[in-house]
Amino acid sequence: MQPPTTTSGSPVHEQGVRTCPACGAANGLTAAFCLQCKHPLDVEITIDAGRVLRSLLIVIGALAVLSPATQAMAYYLPEFPGRDLAASLFYMDNEQNVPTLCSTLLLLVSAILCAMIAHAHHRERGSYVPHWVALALIFSVLALDEFASMHERATLKVRALLGIESGALRWAWVVPAGLAVVIFVFVYLRFLGHLPRSTRRGLWAAGILFVGGAIGFEVLSGPSYVPGAEEQSMAYVFLTTLEETLELLGVTLLVYTLVSYIPLGLPGARWRLRVAEARSFKAKPMV
Ligand SMILES: [Zn+2]
Repeated sequence: MQPPTTTSGSPVHEQGVRTCPACGAANGLTAAFCLQCKHPLDVEITIDAGRVLRSLLIVIGALAVLSPATQAMAYYLPEFPGRDLAASLFYMDNEQNVPTLCSTLLLLVSAILCAMIAHAHHRERGSYVPHWVALALIFSVLALDEFASMHERATLKVRALLGIESGALRWAWVVPAGLAVVIFVFVYLRFLGHLPRSTRRGLWAAGILFVGGAIGFEVLSGPSYVPGAEEQSMAYVFLTTLEETLELLGVTLLVYTLVSYIPLGLPGARWRLRVAEARSFKAKPMV
């Protein structure tokens, strides 16, 4: 029996069922091989933006609770095994721990999504391809920065350059970063204007959450930081937790907005991942 096909020759997509191109048998969406004839089937991964958002919000909610909770444990409870480890693993103001890993991964996913969108628009000769490419690069740099905390290292230099010692601009990297944000918004205004309304709103909200957290709360927490102290006040802990939570919410909304944009801006776009066979590295016969 011939399997039903579309005009382009590919099998008809029925809801919840995939037709084997070889024998026409109906298979489940997740089947890797045809149940009847063992013909290999495309492994289809469907990304549901709403489900992605819900799962990420649960993770961020847990992190936002764990960061101050484990800090309070280290403050108020007597020493017990794992107490300090948990405090440093989940404290949002620390580097190279669980919250940093999450924001690094989310920024990297955003970069990959922008690169996929740029590639698809490039293939259909769409507009604003350089803007998407630049976004992919910017999010890659932000992921690297989150991972290697480059902006924190830049603080001392900027502080010396601007003659700032303490106060709101104690974390002096916010000065060049704020400037970069203003330039970015100016350059991207037209790009934002051409996007579907829901995407535009999502990107604005994501940007406000991320920048508000990263720069806004960094400014707010500057005065309550006690230099050289082994432990900071709980007020500082709460401010930095709020700061990192806003950043994480911003990047989560970014991922959600980018995933939701794909069916709007690139209707019908499908990506196929084909793994090329490895070339063999046999030694050439000596002549
Ligand atoms: Zn089959």
